[in-house]
Amino acid sequence: MKFKFWGVRGSIATPGPTTVKYGGNTTCIEITSSAGDLIILDAGTGIHSLAQSLPRQALTAHILITHTHWDHIQGLPFFLPMFKAGNQINIYGGLEPLTHQGIERAMHVQLQHSYFPISEAQLKASVHYFTLKAGVTINVGAVRVTPIVLNHPVYNFGYRIDDSDGSSLFFTGDYEPQLNPYQPDHPGYQAMQELIEQKREEVIAAMSGVDALIMDSSYTDAEYALRYGWGHGTYRSAMNFAEQAGVKRLFLTHHEPTRSDTELETIYQSILQSGETDFAVYLAKEGDLYDLKAGSEAAQAVKV
Ligand SMILES: [Zn+2]
Ligand SMILES: [Zn+2]
Repeated sequence: MKFKFWGVRGSIATPGPTTVKYGGNTTCIEITSSAGDLIILDAGTGIHSLAQSLPRQALTAHILITHTHWDHIQGLPFFLPMFKAGNQINIYGGLEPLTHQGIERAMHVQLQHSYFPISEAQLKASVHYFTLKAGVTINVGAVRVTPIVLNHPVYNFGYRIDDSDGSSLFFTGDYEPQLNPYQPDHPGYQAMQELIEQKREEVIAAMSGVDALIMDSSYTDAEYALRYGWGHGTYRSAMNFAEQAGVKRLFLTHHEPTRSDTELETIYQSILQSGETDFAVYLAKEGDLYDLKAGSEAAQAVKV
């Protein structure tokens, strides 16, 4: 499969001179399967540019939503193929446990007349919604998609994508690996610790051996100390998961919105200098396209 970053910024779009290199659009990744299926991970503001790059003829798009925070759905009403008859748009996501509503809610809410000038009834494409269950693999075109619940303040799926050509990718959406809130002398500590370790093993198994792990790495350790519970991971947590899951390549993404290009590169250099890893590390950058050649160990992700 091939994949391309159209939005790598966390929380809010940040256009401007200090983010022009890595990009200011919020989360959106385009996947093209070996059979040519169009799969889109999240519909942040980056999906607007993606839409303009698509061919004009009738198309089928599969949009997998990790969770419904604004920065992951805000571009959905601006996905231009929705407005063209003959297009088929399939939107996938989880069931929100509090409201028991599926991913269709992301569209219903955004297309209310107070927030958007065009109503849902005016969309000309054929739009279908699919509610996925955690751990249950589905076929989307020629790929298999397996959602897994990852810790975040709202129900959030990480997605493992396995292409029929053997290449694989895991995207976390937003993910704060859980820490034990109790001190070791607290009566609840041990039970909580066992739950956390069980979940960690489940997550590592889901990421195991993928060609590309694209992971929320919003914070430095110092920043995280002030933002515990906000729902995001750190550079360190991403490196740890990549190592334990034996992935081939790690892509750091969901860049903190105040982070400039220069600051990102300074952090990246310090990561590279901190020691050898068995996997390659990349900063996710808007516009970068990678081709995951399946099969041999020697195969490289070709940046094209
Ligand atoms: Zn986010
Ligand atoms: Zn979020």
